[in-house]
Amino acid sequence: MFSNTQIGIDLGTANILVYTKNKGIVLNEPSVVAIDVNTKQVLAIGNDAKNMVGKTPEHIVAIRPLKDGVIADYQVTIDMLKHIMRKVSKTVNLTLRKPNVVVCAPSGATSVERRAIHDAVKNFGARQVDLIEEPIAAAIGADLPVEEPIANVVVDIGGGTTEVAIISFGGVVTSHSLRLGGDQLDDDIIQYVRKKYNLLIGYRTAENIKMEIGYALIDHEEQTMEIRGRDLVTGLPKTITLSSLEIQGAIREPLLSILETIRTTLEDCPPELSGDIVDRGVILTGGGALLNGIQEWIAEEIDVPVHIAPSPLESVAIGTGRSLNIIHKLQKATK
Ligand code: ADP
Ligand code: MG
Repeated sequence: MFSNTQIGIDLGTANILVYTKNKGIVLNEPSVVAIDVNTKQVLAIGNDAKNMVGKTPEHIVAIRPLKDGVIADYQVTIDMLKHIMRKVSKTVNLTLRKPNVVVCAPSGATSVERRAIHDAVKNFGARQVDLIEEPIAAAIGADLPVEEPIANVVVDIGGGTTEVAIISFGGVVTSHSLRLGGDQLDDDIIQYVRKKYNLLIGYRTAENIKMEIGYALIDHEEQTMEIRGRDLVTGLPKTITLSSLEIQGAIREPLLSILETIRTTLEDCPPELSGDIVDRGVILTGGGALLNGIQEWIAEEIDVPVHIAPSPLESVAIGTGRSLNIIHKLQKATK
């Protein structure tokens, strides 16, 4: 009757979220760590770390340890996780009743890294720690009936990775993972502006351009946006106007790679499940699902219905936090 606190942690390449069953999302911060390169000490995480970028002495650097969907710096990742647990423990009382924690780790994490994540959370006072596969968490968070023997197709477009999976009867039937996500669109916008206008812009500007006037490969009414950067020739600040049509061209390549990954996964679908996909379609989640026109574009290209998850940036965290009952049911079923 007195169930333990259940906590879900989404260790995303761009954002880390923590969800508890009672309080919902209790932490939502960028996966950024500020470290002192001399001492290797973690000085800040999340928003605090992001805000330090470029404003601190040179020996303090901000890094994204999960940027490419693999754990680039193991120790920093573990330290970041400890900071997160400490932050969360200020909102959620973890000592009264030891929580059950489920962590969604990047799909590229090795078994050693998974073990380290498990141990770091466990040492913080968790009663039990489970790790969950990202597509399953995303599907649960998007309210798909993952336990039923029907095809649930999830396309999760994150910052550094895109994961496409067909889930049925609680497990992944087939999946493909692409080491590219929304961040690549930002990179390509930076490169484009640099080449075309000799103008240097930062990551935040590029991301804003993408969110405001970035479109998937669909027809749309042209939009423009004024942006500022540093002229590479004169070295001085300069303002230019960008059109949504040129941005659409700049982000074309990564979008086509994402589409290709979706196609490949659907081609791997067992024939018995194909009918479900035609009827039920595909669900988009992750921040990339918020790109203008992406739903319409993918639906056009693959010719099945495409839906967007209720809160794409939160699906994995919510699903991770809600997954505990399902995980145990599934573990029993396979024993
Ligand atoms: P991860 O799970 O890898 O941490 P997220 O699911 O949090 O990634 O998504 C982050 C990505 O989504 C970033 O590349 C970000 O720029 C992108 N994103 C967020 N909001 C939007 C938006 N409105 N339009 C387009 N892209 C967006
Ligand atoms: Mg994610």
